[in-house]
Amino acid sequence: MKYTTLLLIIIFFTSFRPPETKVYICGSTGSKRYHFKETCRGLSSCRSETVKTSLKQAQGLGLTLCGWED
Ligand SMILES: [Zn+2]
Repeated sequence: MKYTTLLLIIIFFTSFRPPETKVYICGSTGSKRYHFKETCRGLSSCRSETVKTSLKQAQGLGLTLCGWED
């Protein structure tokens, strides 16, 4: 019984690890780009605060990768 519980805990921790990539977007409404680096040149021109979000969410918002990225 204890072994089963331990096994379930292991399965839980290995399968629920979120594989999402974090990206940074400019908080202003006019931004259409996302950035992998918080220190990116494209973000330095951002006049409002930088928002950290997931890559999936950024793409879901119709954002595209910044031209300064590799
Ligand atoms: Zn960038």
